[in-house]
Amino acid sequence: MSEADKPLNFIDHIIEEDLANGFEKRHLRFRFPPEPNGYLHIGHASSICLNFGLGLRYDAPVNLRFDDTNPVKEEQEFVDAIKKDVEWLGYHWDTVRYASDYFQQLYDWALLLIERGKAYVDSQSSDIMASQKGTPTEPGIAGPYRSRSISENLKLFEAMKRGEFAEGSHVLRAKIDMAAPNMLMRDPIMYRILHKAHHRTGTDWCIYPMYDWTHGESDYIEQVSHSLCTLEFAMHRELYDWFLDQVYDSQKIRPKQREFARRNLSHTVVSKRKLLKLVEEGKVTGWDDPRMPTISGLRRRGYTPESIKNFAATIGIAKRENLIDVSLLEFHVREDLNKIAPRVMGVLDPIKIIIVNYPEGEVEWLEAENNPENEAAGSREVPFSREIYIERDDFKEEADKKFFRLKLEGEVRLKNGYIIRAVSCKKNDSGDIVEIQCTYDPKSKSGSGTDESLRKVKGTLHWVSVNHAIEAEVRLYDRLFNDENPDAHKAKDFMEFINPDSLQVISGYLEPSLKNAKPGDFFQFQRLGYFCVDPDTTSKKLVFNRTVGLRDSWAKLQEKT
Ligand code: ATP
Ligand code: MG
Repeated sequence: MSEADKPLNFIDHIIEEDLANGFEKRHLRFRFPPEPNGYLHIGHASSICLNFGLGLRYDAPVNLRFDDTNPVKEEQEFVDAIKKDVEWLGYHWDTVRYASDYFQQLYDWALLLIERGKAYVDSQSSDIMASQKGTPTEPGIAGPYRSRSISENLKLFEAMKRGEFAEGSHVLRAKIDMAAPNMLMRDPIMYRILHKAHHRTGTDWCIYPMYDWTHGESDYIEQVSHSLCTLEFAMHRELYDWFLDQVYDSQKIRPKQREFARRNLSHTVVSKRKLLKLVEEGKVTGWDDPRMPTISGLRRRGYTPESIKNFAATIGIAKRENLIDVSLLEFHVREDLNKIAPRVMGVLDPIKIIIVNYPEGEVEWLEAENNPENEAAGSREVPFSREIYIERDDFKEEADKKFFRLKLEGEVRLKNGYIIRAVSCKKNDSGDIVEIQCTYDPKSKSGSGTDESLRKVKGTLHWVSVNHAIEAEVRLYDRLFNDENPDAHKAKDFMEFINPDSLQVISGYLEPSLKNAKPGDFFQFQRLGYFCVDPDTTSKKLVFNRTVGLRDSWAKLQEKT
């Protein structure tokens, strides 16, 4: 869906109203402002689609701004991964910016605030400062340093910058109102001392600006018109505006902060900090583990950019938080892959069939359509021979009328091939079926035009020729968490809900056309689901990930239990 065709959400309405009130369209500018302290997740996708979507709708520039004010948690690896993910989703930023580019400007403005009596250096411990803050119902009280002279504040702040003090010994605070109803306005911290190297500025700085001081001023520097963030910042808006008031020049665009609800996905967590814990504790193989709700994990799992963008468009932008069921995300990837994924055959739990009336040693190449949804996808050939595999659960010795798969004395059609009839089966000592004997109807070949080829039988099974099958590693994924909302339990940590069976590794037997499949290629394994080639693939071994099954097996399972 193009941006212009999407229904307007409440953020669009805010912008429409501003335009109607005379704000010039050419001054619209947006930004997506991730902190590079982890990989982007599906929640961020909503924010990316919102901001870059606005850019497309209004033909306005969108900056990618790294909010990199905390040297302790931020790394270049995350910057690179974030850029890659935004690009992969198909969006183009106007410029890449870093809050750290503004450290000098922010420092100069901080000096200005001190000079105007709007900021002071506080030298108390953080515990004491917290105890003076008051509560939502009681005002805070002024500490002894609130009345420090301007010259002393300047001297101390400059010495803080030069690295003359230990961490925690001083902070710079805005001097606002210790009795303000909004506790964030009770002299918030603007700078703290951190003797840590920054991934971009190295050891140039040992004082680092806080989020609130940085964010609005960065928006102002970049002349962002609408600064969209999640609801937890609603209370910060007053402070955002106060900081802007200190530096605002009325000739310039004044950024406007507006808030929307965070998007949460069921059966997972969307918080970089929590995802980092999964990575660090080895619960997953990395940020791009196909079970992760990260953009990179979804990509490796076989999700397409379209499916993620369509998902984000469907859930839209809301004013209230809620939990979106992951099956909706799965619906969107199924919908997209159904249109574009080539169809192939593979058997994941094989049982052997011998076609007793088919000549030994003979091989026939049968024509198989690549995608019934798309004629232009053409066709390929699959080999047929006397010995084939079908899925174990596609055969029963005896079954009722509703079982449309293979049973003794019953018929099924082999996809793209012949009708076969099961005549007998062989069992091992423990009674498990190990082989099925069938006959085939030589005149029933699909597409051959004979009456038999058009004969309808109830079931059609996928299969592969035993001698031609390629063995591949197939990774089957389940939910990473057993609980719908692992984050919502006060008494229990989200880690307690990890599903121990979220990964199953099996061998699959695939049609030979897949021999040259490359990492990232995706397919529909007919009747089984969508699968993609994992980057762990080597020249010796193909590795596939199951992206999603064909039907919503999870919802069904839930109904049963
Ligand atoms: P996390 O807790 O995962 O680190 P964050 O909000 O700290 O998330 P940022 O890197 O600051 O992550 O986020 C960049 C932008 O993405 C912000 O504008 C933020 O509001 C938005 N965002 C983050 N998580 C979500 C979410 N779950 N749904 C919608 N927007 C989100
Ligand atoms: Mg954050």
